[in-house]
Formats: sequence, structure tokens, C-alpha cells
Amino acid sequence: MAANFPSTPYLIVLFLIYISRLMPTLGNANPWTNLLPAKLQTLQIANRLRDDSDAIRLASSDYGNIVREIPAAVLYPSSMNDIASLIKFAHSSSSPFNIAARGQGHSVGGQAMARNGVVVDMTSLRNHRNGYGITVSWSPSMGFYADVGGEQLWVDVLHSTLEHGLAPVSWTDYLYMTVGGTLSNAGIGGQTFRYGPQISNVYEMDVITGKGDFVTCSADKNRELFYAVLGGLGQFGIIGRARIALEPAPKRVKWVRMLYNDFSAFAKDQEHLVSINGRKQKNALDYLEGLLLMHQGPPDSWRSSFFPLSDHSRIIYLVTKYGIIYCLEVAKFYDDRSINYVDKELQILFEGLSFIPGYSFEKDISYVDFLNRVRSGELKLQSQGLWDIPHPFLNLFVPKSQISDFNSGVFKDIVFNRNITTGPVLVYPMNRNKWDDRMSAVIPDEDVFYTIGFLHSSGFDDWEALDVQNKEILLFCNNAGIEVKQYLPKYYKTKEEWKNHFGKKWRAFQERKSQFDPKMILSPGQGIFNNN
Ligand code: FAD
Repeated sequence: MAANFPSTPYLIVLFLIYISRLMPTLGNANPWTNLLPAKLQTLQIANRLRDDSDAIRLASSDYGNIVREIPAAVLYPSSMNDIASLIKFAHSSSSPFNIAARGQGHSVGGQAMARNGVVVDMTSLRNHRNGYGITVSWSPSMGFYADVGGEQLWVDVLHSTLEHGLAPVSWTDYLYMTVGGTLSNAGIGGQTFRYGPQISNVYEMDVITGKGDFVTCSADKNRELFYAVLGGLGQFGIIGRARIALEPAPKRVKWVRMLYNDFSAFAKDQEHLVSINGRKQKNALDYLEGLLLMHQGPPDSWRSSFFPLSDHSRIIYLVTKYGIIYCLEVAKFYDDRSINYVDKELQILFEGLSFIPGYSFEKDISYVDFLNRVRSGELKLQSQGLWDIPHPFLNLFVPKSQISDFNSGVFKDIVFNRNITTGPVLVYPMNRNKWDDRMSAVIPDEDVFYTIGFLHSSGFDDWEALDVQNKEILLFCNNAGIEVKQYLPKYYKTKEEWKNHFGKKWRAFQERKSQFDPKMILSPGQGIFNNN
């Protein structure tokens, strides 16, 4: 089992660290290197380890602002070799300690934390790539691709690839997260129904395994590691580089939202639109999501500002009248060559949709502004001190055949009746055939399934009510036989729950763990193989 410095000298060291944190002056007088276990001090990377209060504070919290796990130290690597040295050291130690890569720390349940272990601050690598953090190339077999450091932010991938007139095809809604962090989960958004999640768009990776080995892997080479790492919740290795598929980038976006008061009409239209999903199919949408409007709040949220101010009151009237309004959100990308067809194509796609007449809204914005649409809301919240607050998020995948039961039991009964939900609630379908079942990511068995995102935010003293609601939702699904899978899982506490989550993949997941991280060192904060 993993790995918490169990021996007496380590416990003494940890006690000293604990005391030094309680007494900041004492902590300052005793820099970490004095407290390092003797063997760690001999490592060449010792000068890249820190345990000062700033380093520890950052590494022991995340965007969720709910879980706190104190690591013994934080590594600020200057290269992948530094990370390999640390992991090798832990792996060969008689009492191996935990190690967690921390990308941007945008997890919400402590997944990038390592109690008593070492957190690797991946962002440090950005200062040491010498301009090679993101490079664009072409090959006859792959076409255009970008080699991207695992620590790079997607927003930087966007800007760098756009310099070549290119871009990845699959995006998350929010871009200030690292490539390694989203590939460890899946990386989903409005393009997933057509292009698959981000993990479906990776050709190759460099990974440091839990034994400290540097391995280049792809579908052809070291494929077991390749499929393990994609969606692998950080369990098998630390991603140092990912090779990501690129395509010519569009310039602009027609962005449309349509409102529904009837869930089955909304879901039927969503499912119809995602059924047109060929990668090269010109008449397919480029993006499809959906969200709930509830509780007479403003129709816009931090996630995006969309509706014209002049329409707010009639939208609020609609929400007041019906309680829940379902908002279908789609986009079609275009450039100079397609500018003359885009409206016609949209018109054809929208034929027969049953949104409420008069409640369709359209915007025309640049491609960059569309992809980066959450950023302005983030900056606004930051300026109000409302970004770094608790975020008891819950993300689920729900099979299509049970989405109607989910709507009545969860949206209408639990969420609407409790009236405590603060933040966007997303609901939109995806196609299973755009996912690769050999990867670690877990999705429902049906051809079409929905993603549901409760993106709650709360005060520091009332997040628990939302946490209770999340648990109630999970319990309801369990009792009603709705076979949900958690995305970005954080509510599984027992081995049995993880086993149930992975289903038929559990055996392979365990075997891969024994193969690539036999001492169970990596990403303990996921709580799969250890209860950190
Ligand atoms: P971290 O939180 O730092 O790490 C996440 C996990 O990955 C940890 O277990 C960590 O140990 C591991 N890890 C980190 N880096 C590496 C690496 N290089 N190699 C191996 N393992 C690593 N997700 C979506 O899919 N779509 C969305 O639209 C979306 N929107 C979001 C919006 C917001 C505001 C937030 C807060 C989150 C959103 N997420 C979304 C969730 C997000 O994708 C995950 O939380 C992701 O892990 C964040 O990346 P990060 O760099 O912050 O990872």
C-alpha cells in the first residue's frame, strides 16, 4: 500500500513541520531543507523543494476550496528529469511517499493534493521550456499537430496554434487549465459530440511512470501506458508532453441559444442535432451544449454573458412562469470561405426544432472570444473576490434512456424544490462512439449519454448544503436505478464504489496500476488506491 512516511524518523520530521506551521516565526527560522529527510537532501533536486507557508498553502488547496491536505513539500521542477528523480527516489525508498502532479489546481475535491507527500507544481516547468512549451509541426501520417508540455494552459495552446492558422478541435469551456490536468480526466465541452473529448485527440505522450521511467507512448508504441494515462486520473504517470491533433482554425462563430419550457422537446432537439456528427460533415454543428435557467436569477452567469440586456426581463418572466427553462446552446464556426453559407446551414439545421417561438437569440463573435468566453466572467468574479470561494461542483454522465427520469427526479424535485442552487447547471448529450473504450475514462454504456454539470459556488459557511444536495442527487439516482457515472469523481469513498464506477474496466485499471505505479505513489488525492 502507499506511502505516508510511516517510520519513526519521518513521523518526527512531520511533527516538526506541523509545529513549525503552527508557529510561523519558528517555521521561518527553520527552512525546509533543514527538515528534509536526510536522503531527500542528498538529491540534486533538493534546492527545488520548498515547504514555506506560501508553497504549502497553494499545494494544500484547490479551486473547490473545501478539501485541505498538507503536503510535506512542493517540488518546483525545472525539467522532467527533476520529476523522474523524485519519483525514482520515492519508488526505491523503503517507505515510499505519495506524489501528486498539480496542474492549475482546478480540481474541486483535493485530487491534486498529497497528504504528507510531495506535490509537483507543474506550472514551474513553464519557466524552463525555453520557448519550446508548445511547438507546431506537420507529418504525412498525422497532418498538423502540436507538441505541448503537460503543464501548458489550453489558452496558450490556442494562441500559439492560431499563429499558424491552426487549432485543436476539442475544447473545455474554460481554458485556464493544464493539458496534463484535463487529459487525466477527459476534457469535455460542446465539441465532444462531434470530435470526442480531448483525450480522443492525442497522438502521443511522454510520461514519467510511477517507477520514475521516462516513456514515450502512443497507440502504436507502449500502448498500454498510452491508454492507461488518458482519462487515468493521474494514476499511472505524469504527462510531460502530449502531441495534439490540429486542424485549420475558423475565424468567427455564430453562437445561438434557444429556450424551451418542455424538457422532452429540448432533449429531442439536442439528440437530433448531435446525431449529425461526422468530423468532415459540413452540415454538422461545431458546438452543442445546454443549460438550465431557474429561480428567476439573471439569465446570464459567470460562465458566459450572452443574452441582450433588453431581453432579460422577458426571459425572467418565462423562468418565473415555468420554473425551469431549458436553454439549448449551439455554435457554427466559419471563415472567409464559408461566410456565405453559414446562415443557410444553420437555418436548415434549425428546421423543425421546437423551441419557444420568439426565444432564439444569436451572437456573432470571434473564434478566440468564443472559446475563451468564460474568462471575462472569471475576471469579474475575481475583482469581486468571488472566484476563490467554495465550489461544491458535481459532474455526472447519465444514460440517454434515463435522462427523462433524471429531469423529473433531480432537476424538478431536488434542485428546483430546494432552491439553493447557485451557478450554472449544464445538460447536454454526447456520442459514445467518439470515445475510445481502451482509455481509462469511464462513461455510460449507451450510444448517447448526457453530461450534467452542477457548477455550484457558495460562501465559506454554506457549501455544506450544496454538498448535501449533491449527495441527495447521487442517492436518488442509486435508488431509482439511474446508472450515472461521476465525471471528475469526488464522491467515491470505498473501494467498492470505485470498482462499481470502473465496472468492466476495473480489472485492467488495477493491473495497469500494478504495472506502472506498483508502490501506489501517484495522485493519492483521487482516493482510489489510498484514502488520502
Ligand atoms: P489539477 O486540478 O491540477 O489536477 C487534476 C488531476 O490531474 C490530479 O489528480 C493531478 O494529480 C493530475 N495531474 C495534473 N497534471 C498532470 C500531469 N501533467 N500528468 C498527470 N497527471 C496530472 N473539465 C472539462 O472536461 N470541461 C470543462 O469545460 C471544464 N470546465 C471547468 C471550469 C472550471 C471553472 C473548473 C474549475 C474546472 C473545469 N473543468 C472542466 C474540470 C477540469 O478539467 C479538471 O478539474 C482538470 O483537472 C483541471 O486541470 P488542472 O490543470 O487544474 O488539473
